[in-house]
Amino acid sequence: TAISSRESQLRSALLGLAVGDALGVPVEFQSRPARRLDPVVHMREYGTHHQPAGTWSDDASLTFCLAQAIADGFSVGKVAEYSRRWYYENLWTPRGRVFDIGITTREALSRLQSNPDLILAGGTDEYSNGNGSLMRILPLAFYKEDAPLPERFELIRQISAVTHGHIRSAVACFLYLEIARHLRAGFTPAEAYLAMREQAPAQLRELNIPAHEAEKFERILSGRLPDIAVTAIDSGGYVMATLEASLWCLLRHETYAETVLAAVNLGDDTDTTGAVTGGLAGLYYGEAAIPPEWLQVLARRADIEDLAYRAAEATA
Ligand code: ADP
Ligand code: MG
Repeated sequence: TAISSRESQLRSALLGLAVGDALGVPVEFQSRPARRLDPVVHMREYGTHHQPAGTWSDDASLTFCLAQAIADGFSVGKVAEYSRRWYYENLWTPRGRVFDIGITTREALSRLQSNPDLILAGGTDEYSNGNGSLMRILPLAFYKEDAPLPERFELIRQISAVTHGHIRSAVACFLYLEIARHLRAGFTPAEAYLAMREQAPAQLRELNIPAHEAEKFERILSGRLPDIAVTAIDSGGYVMATLEASLWCLLRHETYAETVLAAVNLGDDTDTTGAVTGGLAGLYYGEAAIPPEWLQVLARRADIEDLAYRAAEATA
């Protein structure tokens, strides 16, 4: 039925994202040459943040906060509240505490904490374009996904702006969700990429995105992305880098495991690249394609599955 496929898609996306995140956590900040010598091939323990195997980070936590806001009768205010409660009250932490957060995200959540009336707390300057809103946006592929374009974009813009208020972060989230929407509709990654590229120029014009901002997405929208050499793929924390790296991994691999391991083995911001890639790969390949030994050690797996059920039911 419609609800079970919606639910299984959301569950696969959330689990795929959390697994990609957890694969990256033990090697976060380590370089690409380090990964060449010692590639990640399974769920490691300890490493960068001294966490047990299967521990996901801020990426999955804040994704789950958005999914929970959807489950609880959505509002942008709820997304801001739950995100703030993650950092200050350990809501949706994997094992009871926060061990990683980006600078832009932390500044925004601290503004929310000191000003209860604030919702769109994200900075709007050029250097507020870390990947911290892209990493948590995926559940929006399951909320008002059939609304008219301006309404859909405005919602994405506001959810991004809870922590990341620059238009580039919003456009990155939008294009990522366009891929997710097409994957949900049964397109392959290559087909989803083509459909997104064909539609994006007119969509960005309709949304009045300034031309100099739309141009930032040229490597993606030109169709050249999958042919770019790995040396020209940045796996750092800039939203543009993470969007490109995740689509590049998705388009060049054939299984869930190969896709997320490729993302993590790019090095640098491994947990977020793993999470952003893993969400799309989970959505496309499905929960059954995620190696069971990775799911077995995943922190709070049952809670994630219950969350997927509740969020899917709330939007059915
Ligand atoms: P988060 O977005 O997760 O809160 P940070 O604020 O720590 O994370 O930013 C992550 C990275 O994004 C930083 O390394 C920062 O230099 C990079 N970044 C942010 N904006 C830009 C930009 N406009 N160009 C290049 N890199 C950027
Ligand atoms: Mg993280």
